[in-house]
Amino acid sequence: MRVLNPDRRPLVAGNWKMHTTPQSGVELARAIVRAGPPDGVDLVLCPPAIAVTDVARAVVGTSIRVGAQNMHWLDSGAFTGEISAPMLAGVAEVVIVGHSERRADFGETDEMVNGKLEAALAAGLTPIVCVGETESVRDAGGAQALITAQVEAALAGIGSTAAEPLVMAYEPVWAIGTGRTASPAQAAEAIGWAREALSDALDAAAAQRTRILYGGSVSPSNARDLLTQDGVDGALVGGASLKADDFIAIARSAVS
Ligand code: PEP
Repeated sequence: MRVLNPDRRPLVAGNWKMHTTPQSGVELARAIVRAGPPDGVDLVLCPPAIAVTDVARAVVGTSIRVGAQNMHWLDSGAFTGEISAPMLAGVAEVVIVGHSERRADFGETDEMVNGKLEAALAAGLTPIVCVGETESVRDAGGAQALITAQVEAALAGIGSTAAEPLVMAYEPVWAIGTGRTASPAQAAEAIGWAREALSDALDAAAAQRTRILYGGSVSPSNARDLLTQDGVDGALVGGASLKADDFIAIARSAVS
């Protein structure tokens, strides 16, 4: 399986969450293709699992890659409703791991995130591992410690070579789906903390090559300020990724 370019080329990923059917997902993917993905940025669409195959077919022949929003950490077994990394690897190239909605709403622990990351890498998928603090943690001055702990826990037992395709996303929980964004300075600072933690967990070279995205209410109007910050290598986009023109406008901000 081809691994997305690891040289910190900007990456903009759309997390469609629990929106779109296979049919409307294909229509959205086609609209994104028509809107004109810019050169110089890796674009990833993450539809609901039921739509991954159809959306992947809809973007064949384009530079767009398709990912899933979640997966189990084991390859197979009696886990009703789950899908595994080897199942995804036939159709998707990317998978989001440890999104805060999974952590908060479905009890996903750091240990599960670690298992999922290991399984995704073993299956040849490009994982986008999400970390980020709640508002109360930030207000209490604990954002750096929490981000560091999440990065360390996600990477426990995973070596620098195995982690080569890794992408991370700093997503402050208080900015996801709220219309509030981190300021560009806050985003750059927190991504700096995540990179430092990556350097400790893996090594300095791995920290330098790993793309770290910002996520949290990114829109066409704030994308340029966020994505032109030092160390911000792209965006993980929720709401705005459901509108083809907005998603493409955000992608353009990453390269202009
Ligand atoms: C997300 O789902 O990862 C996200 C950042 O959502 P939104 O852009 O809607 O805040």
